[in-house]
Amino acid sequence: MSIVLGGGISGLSAAYYLLKQSNHAPKLFEASSRFGGWIKTEVSPADQKVRFECGPRTLRPKGVKGLNTLELCSELGLNNDIVPITSNHPAAKNRLLSVKNELHVLPASITGMFRTVPPFTKPLIYGLVRDFSRSYAGQPLNDDTIYNFVERRFGTEIAKYLVSSMICGICAGDAKEISVKFLLKDLFEYEQEHKSVVMGIYKKTLERMSNKNAGKKPTEHCNLSKRSMMELWSIYSLNDGLEKLPKTLSHHLESNGVQLSTNAKCEHIEFGSNGVNVTINGKGYDTDNLVSSLPAFEIGKLVQKQHPELADDLLAIPYVDVAVVNFQFTGNNLLEKPGFGFLVPPAEDLPILGVIYDSCCFDMGENTVLTVMMGGKWFRERFGNGDEQDLYEKAIEQIRKILNIQQKPDAFKVNILRQCIPQYLVGHFERIERINNYIDQHKIPLKLCGSAYDGVGVNDAIYSAKVAVESIAR
Ligand SMILES: Cc1cc2nc3c(=O)[nH]c(=O)nc-3n(C[C@H](O)[C@H](O)[C@H](O)COP(=O)(O)OP(=O)(O)OC[C@H]3O[C@@H](n4cnc5c(N)ncnc54)[C@H](O)[C@@H]3O)c2cc1C
Repeated sequence: MSIVLGGGISGLSAAYYLLKQSNHAPKLFEASSRFGGWIKTEVSPADQKVRFECGPRTLRPKGVKGLNTLELCSELGLNNDIVPITSNHPAAKNRLLSVKNELHVLPASITGMFRTVPPFTKPLIYGLVRDFSRSYAGQPLNDDTIYNFVERRFGTEIAKYLVSSMICGICAGDAKEISVKFLLKDLFEYEQEHKSVVMGIYKKTLERMSNKNAGKKPTEHCNLSKRSMMELWSIYSLNDGLEKLPKTLSHHLESNGVQLSTNAKCEHIEFGSNGVNVTINGKGYDTDNLVSSLPAFEIGKLVQKQHPELADDLLAIPYVDVAVVNFQFTGNNLLEKPGFGFLVPPAEDLPILGVIYDSCCFDMGENTVLTVMMGGKWFRERFGNGDEQDLYEKAIEQIRKILNIQQKPDAFKVNILRQCIPQYLVGHFERIERINNYIDQHKIPLKLCGSAYDGVGVNDAIYSAKVAVESIAR
């Protein structure tokens, strides 16, 4: 019997793939009183039709990991629950930046790259010209911060406004600390190998053209992914909110004999010569296969006594706190420019990371629904321990200033998510390699999955569970 620790989306997915692979029902233990982890949808107290997403809200349907999530949705019978945003929708086209309290739409097309769009003082295409005209002449690097890399190749404005804001939007982190391999691994390798990103892209394209289809495995697509491609989905969510995914997954698992327990905290793990014993609420359970989807700092503490070296690496992955403040205002025409929302470059030194325009993305009736993201890397210096009233006041002040919405919200909700997003600092991927090598070399019957290792998004978490389970079979 296999045991899965943690009932967030990666733990539930691990249980799903274990069941699918072996047809043996694993046991899953979740410390809190519900499944879904950070995926949590609430209903506004002012209107049952309005949803407040307290964590993630949209998924991307693209790439191997995006297609894998669509396959999971399809297998769970969620095809008719998907709410897509297609590529011609304003929420797909208009992504904004707030600089000096003014909103600027980022270029979303090739032609836009040739125009000067504030806050940039030159067309973005100049970044590529700059890269091409300056060969990398430094020492070979194994890793770098994403800020350094982008500034070196494409110039300060792209690093300061574009990439720093994107890093805030994706992981609430500081681009001056996050590894370039987190988002731009290929481009960094092109620089290191070919001395320029543009040159690397050019050479790779030539290579691909000459080996057309050689060794290429045809990708299999489920009906839902075919639909997503035909209809040009950009992002999507689910009817009733994203929590429908873990809810459907947990119902599916329970009705197929998987024992799912809430309020079941793993307190101790003992690796022995005949397997593993895990202690849950004082009771011991034996297993040959342990899959942990816990945050790295949790599993790190649990293995520390027997494997301090492994624990050191797990405990060295930092996490940040994020405050999520949802607002509902009467009237669906309060925003001057529809879009996905805006991000705030950290150099602006505002108390918010960005604002998502939920009611532009999904139907919220006659309401404007917004989510303000705050804190992340800067949580402590801006908010100390975090006081809900203070967070609310700072959030609404920015909405008034930047969006010019002066009316009182009909409803709002403040959630402080402690240690919710892992930070992939410089050296992260080497650390993960060390962690995996240590587990292999010591033949520890432990598989790790979740957002701490190879991608911080929902698609990454689900895919990591699939990879972990497949590696058990191997
Ligand atoms: C504010 C915010 C917005 C986000 N937006 C997006 C988005 O729009 N799109 C996207 O793709 N991703 C987004 N993400 C990322 C996404 O939420 C995560 O990738 C995903 O939820 C991680 O799931 P997980 O199962 O790995 O971890 P978790 O959700 O953290 O699950 C881990 C589970 O383990 C349990 N646990 C902890 N300790 C123990 C123990 N000792 N014993 C048993 N159980 C334990 C926890 O209670 C928890 O339920 C966002 C994240 C945040 C915080």
